[in-house]
Amino acid sequence: MRLTAEPVSRLIEEFTKLPGIGPKTAQRLTFYLLRVPAEDVKELAKAIIEVKEKIIFCSTCFNITEKDPCFICEGTGRDRSSICVVEEPLDVLALERTGEYNGLYHVLHGAISPMEGMGPENLKIDQLLRRLRVGTVQEVILATNPNLEGEATAMYVSRLIKGLGPKVTRLARGLPIGGDLEYADEITLTRALEGRREV
Ligand SMILES: [Zn+2]
Repeated sequence: MRLTAEPVSRLIEEFTKLPGIGPKTAQRLTFYLLRVPAEDVKELAKAIIEVKEKIIFCSTCFNITEKDPCFICEGTGRDRSSICVVEEPLDVLALERTGEYNGLYHVLHGAISPMEGMGPENLKIDQLLRRLRVGTVQEVILATNPNLEGEATAMYVSRLIKGLGPKVTRLARGLPIGGDLEYADEITLTRALEGRREV
């Protein structure tokens, strides 16, 4: 039995593929879009296409950017002796929002997770080591998520960095355990940064 017009069910299906969107929300979003002016929907569609067409990864830090190198890697006011290692581009956003960190970043694009078939070779670890071998970095802050995968990744990376020169630190405890960095509020993140400890 056909319940609704094909374009409608197709959009619902597309929304359901997005993270955090269940069938109910997908329906609600679809019927919302049917009600708003066509112009608004066109703007939304344009924004979605543009984000795929215009956004690339920085070839140095692997954060998302419109131009390569990104504005952080290129920025003259940044402290080039410090690299903060995170799992996802969203984590960079969270740390930048604190306004407390002025160094550089390195985005691994994931964490080691044997369950999900993510090994170290799937992450931007070699690229990090290459940056460290240049010799200008004095501190590497491991800001992977405070969960099993994040801890395993931090441990793995710290072992590789030892001997290359820079001091290795880890964000202080106090971040919600098992949570993602991106969801931590600014005060908690600032405290975690300030209280970072050498590993
Ligand atoms: Zn960059």
